[in-house]
Amino acid sequence: KWEELDAAYFHSYSHLGIHEEMIKDHVRTETYRAAIQQHQNSISGKVVMDVGCGTGILSIFCALAGARKVYAVEASEIAVQANEVVKANNLSEKVIVLHEKIENVTIEEKVDVIISEWMGYMLLYESMLSSVILARDRWLKPGGLILPSHATLYMAPVTHSERYHESIDFWRNVYGIDMSVILPLAKQCAFEEPSIETISAENILSWPFVVKGIDCYTVTAQELESITTRYRFASMLRAPLHGFAFWFDVEFSDPATFPTHFNSFITSGSSTSTHLSTQRTNLANSNKKLLLSTAPEEEPTHWQQAIIYFYEPIEMTQDQIIEGSITLSRSMENPRFLNIHLEYSSGCRSFVKESILR
Ligand code: SAH
Repeated sequence: KWEELDAAYFHSYSHLGIHEEMIKDHVRTETYRAAIQQHQNSISGKVVMDVGCGTGILSIFCALAGARKVYAVEASEIAVQANEVVKANNLSEKVIVLHEKIENVTIEEKVDVIISEWMGYMLLYESMLSSVILARDRWLKPGGLILPSHATLYMAPVTHSERYHESIDFWRNVYGIDMSVILPLAKQCAFEEPSIETISAENILSWPFVVKGIDCYTVTAQELESITTRYRFASMLRAPLHGFAFWFDVEFSDPATFPTHFNSFITSGSSTSTHLSTQRTNLANSNKKLLLSTAPEEEPTHWQQAIIYFYEPIEMTQDQIIEGSITLSRSMENPRFLNIHLEYSSGCRSFVKESILR
């Protein structure tokens, strides 16, 4: 059954549309290109492995940055196109397209650099990071470079009355007819599963909280099986709380450097205000670290944000506390899906919400 699910997953990447969407996401693609340029010293003359090369775009960027050889590994049928693109650009000497799963690849040497664009919705959807971990453990030379090097998943409380009105309150008066008996079903249909949509900074009620910080040099697959963290927010506004938003950023730093975000964590307002006002250039100012951010205050990307809506909003007053825990785990139904177990309480009321990102 696992093989069938895998085949379906790779089949979804055989369609050009999905690659077009990713490539046209210029925040994504330009940040990767900038990262490759920034690390040109570590790439030039070296051997690179691109885990999940898709159309081959990142492999070709690396070849153009002077890589001696690039192993462009891709399990889906898009590998055939990647190979054609490589040939048409006279890069066949340098870029070797391997049409197989990274798990099955054998090459004659170890690599200096691993690059991959593995991030899914809510960062961990698709579980592709475990394939990058496998590639790292099997093929990366000691001291080698991994791009991106770090990833951080954030959450924050959200108010979104328009969304609630258009999906729920809509049924109260439909062309003059009272359809409010449909409300329970409307809530279930709209809010049972996480919703992928673009919100803005105005929807956010508090400083974000770090659900998980990942160091791509050291993270293990086991560590990603299930992630639990407790959170606590104080609402900055008086507003209805409709749920929680999740987003991530990834950073492209050297192995030796300590990630900026691990020490400037979101514990105090002052440190976070830097985050919330991150400049649009994607270049984290202080230490010139490249950041690909999918935060609501940044330019939108194809990842958007993932929102878990409550069935019933909670009226928050300013400084009111909302706290609880969140668990993200691989789904039993399909290991690429993400189970989300959310507990939240405010005052004396507590709730639990289970959902699956599928
Ligand atoms: N690097 C490309 C594509 C990124 S999407 C770009 O930046 O545009 C991720 C790609 O990884 C998909 O094409 C998917 O088929 C491939 N992939 C995912 N897991 C893989 C694995 N285990 N082995 C080989 N390819 C994989």
